[in-house]
Amino acid sequence: MAALDIHVFLCRKDNIGVLVHAEDGTTASIDAPDAASITAALDEKGWSLSHILVTHHHGDHTAGNLELKQKTGCRIIGPRAEAARIPGIDVEVDDGDSFTLGGHPVDVIGTPGHTMGHITYFLPNDRAAFVGDTLFVMGCGRVLEGNHEMMWHSLSRIASLPGDTRIYCGHEYTVSNARFGLSIEPENALLRHRLEEAEQSLAQGRLTVPSRLDEELQTNVFLRPHNIGTRRRLGLGAVADWRVFGELRERKNKA
Ligand SMILES: [Zn+2]
Repeated sequence: MAALDIHVFLCRKDNIGVLVHAEDGTTASIDAPDAASITAALDEKGWSLSHILVTHHHGDHTAGNLELKQKTGCRIIGPRAEAARIPGIDVEVDDGDSFTLGGHPVDVIGTPGHTMGHITYFLPNDRAAFVGDTLFVMGCGRVLEGNHEMMWHSLSRIASLPGDTRIYCGHEYTVSNARFGLSIEPENALLRHRLEEAEQSLAQGRLTVPSRLDEELQTNVFLRPHNIGTRRRLGLGAVADWRVFGELRERKNKA
């Protein structure tokens, strides 16, 4: 089976728009931050929208749902636990569910924390994960509805996917995340290198999404609470990983 064609573009201020196109013409938008930008991207590619895959209920991920559905007749798939807050939802899915998109298997992974019903879509054959506002490039989402332990568990599930998985997240926050990361792991040369790369990409008008999971595991401090240097810097000893994660998240909130 041919590889999916995945197109990434900026929506709103810093939301990431993603279109996933299969060889049979099936085209899904991952979330729908804004109908106009997504329509423009579809026109540019010559693709017709057939699905929207919603990761969570926030307005900057669902604002375009109804207009796109009315224009294209697309089917909207989203998390069952947040169905009442997702405009136009047709199909409700939950942790452990699987379906196919243009013949490509999609696994639904429950990743609560940012919101209580947040889900991630993992395409095992394509090594792509659409993680919404759970994991960001060198960062992670704010823990708005759940708690630190829950969010850490969700991040751990994403972290256990194959290392060559490409991570498509919901926002372009990479530079700010990497700068925070360097304040925690100043000795991490790869992290420093990735910050420089990200600054260059943005200066040239390119987005930093997607990233590869194996690179995240080496440079994303939120996935590295076991790191001895981090624990020392935070003044934390042999506590559970999720407690270190929680302290990092609190510090980033205030950074
Ligand atoms: Zn959100």
